[in-house]
Amino acid sequence: CSSTTPITATLFPGDGIGPEIAESVKKVFTTAGVPIDWEEHYVGTEIDPRTQSFLTWESLESVRRNKVGLKGPMATPIGKGHRSLNLTLRKELNLYANVRPCYSLPGYKTRYDDVNLITIRENTEGEYSGLEHQVVRGVVESLKIITRQASLRVAEYAFHYAKTHGRERVSAIHKANIMQKTDGLFLKCCREVAEKYPEITYEEVVIDNCCMMLVKNPALFDVLVMPNLYGDIISDLCAGLVGGLGLTPSCNIGEDGVALAEAVHGSAPDIAGKNLANPTALLLSGVMMLRHLKLNEQAEQIHSAIINTIAEGKYRTADLGGSSTTTDFTKAICDHL
Ligand code: NAD
Repeated sequence: CSSTTPITATLFPGDGIGPEIAESVKKVFTTAGVPIDWEEHYVGTEIDPRTQSFLTWESLESVRRNKVGLKGPMATPIGKGHRSLNLTLRKELNLYANVRPCYSLPGYKTRYDDVNLITIRENTEGEYSGLEHQVVRGVVESLKIITRQASLRVAEYAFHYAKTHGRERVSAIHKANIMQKTDGLFLKCCREVAEKYPEITYEEVVIDNCCMMLVKNPALFDVLVMPNLYGDIISDLCAGLVGGLGLTPSCNIGEDGVALAEAVHGSAPDIAGKNLANPTALLLSGVMMLRHLKLNEQAEQIHSAIINTIAEGKYRTADLGGSSTTTDFTKAICDHL
């Protein structure tokens, strides 16, 4: 795409802090002159029978048509008996891999200075298959589904990602010693794909040991690929290594070339509507979206403005120990641009 022809992208501001941080992204993108026209879609107020969730059919059609979008967090009420919005999106749009880069931000000191890893989470099955039921009163059952097709697909994505991004190692994270059939199949698929990439070092690490190693020395890892639930947990752990959920972006990759970027964090109801949220994670997700669109110049400009604002230390949100509001921090980034 030429950088002068506007590209239409879907925007889901989402729930909780979502609209506040989405506003920040819109401001920063406009200031940087990013040629994007946003097609905004809000979560509906009643269940759409065509999606069986509060997500409207039109919003899913918008992503299918544009093939690119940015998503704010969406709240999932516990025990309300309707399909999770995030699960609906992942299933309906076949968003099979979730890529979560996690790296130390220069200028923001944490216990580690050298975190630079990528978690790649299988996004469609595992414990998130939505197959839970009550067997008899007091006994419930949840099915963990692992398929050869989805495991090969995410493993292939992880190795391809490693090769095309100059990465040297892929670690498959598992608990196959206990879940021999499910995680066993996942590992078998990773091994098969690894054989096609002899230039990439392949290893297998049991999830509990992986947690210990990550906390002790995150530099031991490069690209990590894993089933759905482990990916959910490990990526929050990784966020903690670099300063918290306010900082970590992600991008969902679908078949048919769909890319839907989103922050790793949720809707943060405890700080919603208070102008306190850190928009960095959603902004960096926006940067991932721009790189996907090959708008590299604008991506780098915005990335540097965010890093420089945080490094300068004058404007930081409360999660990073500062006292700036979302709008003040956003304005500081715009001034850097
Ligand atoms: P959460 O990520 O919303 O919040 C965890 C903690 O991190 C809170 O203290 C919150 O204030 C803080 N935090 C998160 N993002 C922040 C930001 N940008 N700036 C500053 N602080 C931030 O997790 P939760 O409370 O477990 O979940 C709340 C809701 O979000 C739930 O309904 C959950 O299902 C949903 N959720 C959605 C997504 C998604 O849409 N992808 C992901 C995770 C959780």
